[in-house]
Amino acid sequence: MESAGAPGTGIDMIDNLLEGNKKFREGFFKENRAVYDELAKGQSPSVLWIGCSDSRLQTGHITQTMPGTLFIQRNIGNVAPLHDWNFATVLEYAIRHLKVKDIVICGHSDCGAIKALDKETDDVYIPLWLNNAIEAKNRVDAKIPAPKTPEAAKERSRMIEQENVRLQIEHLKRYPVVKKALDEKKIEIHGLYYNLSDGSLTTIV
Ligand SMILES: [Zn+2]
Repeated sequence: MESAGAPGTGIDMIDNLLEGNKKFREGFFKENRAVYDELAKGQSPSVLWIGCSDSRLQTGHITQTMPGTLFIQRNIGNVAPLHDWNFATVLEYAIRHLKVKDIVICGHSDCGAIKALDKETDDVYIPLWLNNAIEAKNRVDAKIPAPKTPEAAKERSRMIEQENVRLQIEHLKRYPVVKKALDEKKIEIHGLYYNLSDGSLTTIV
């Protein structure tokens, strides 16, 4: 994999992106020409994937799925916010029009959004957004003693990252369009967790 240009050298980075696209077109795109010809006519993804914006999570890459499989919503902290038109639009389109069969909420290790739940900040928008996830932290802190070692702190973060996935599934189910599709057994919701240290994706129950 080509690395992007060094920080501060914007022009090199864009050159790298364009060069990468050339390699893609001459390689993978050409080899899968028939697939891309079909995809040029329309999409029929079977999964709505809600994941974190984190740059280390290349969704198609870590799941080895072809384009056209995953309809993707990524945001900070893989949140299913309540009262959010952007998110509601994604849900409505994915469920009612694309007729996805599965919805995934995927959390991950070393999540900056989860770390930020513990930080005082003068940011304006980030704390407001993270109000959608704060309950996950509160639930875990009510259950375990304050961590006294780096290992215990890491374990606490993992617990909050995973509890956040459960919390966001609860949020998801509060959207009428999701509730209806669940009642009619048209969709299933799945919680997943991606571990950056070994590349594994596991189910959260
Ligand atoms: Zn994250």
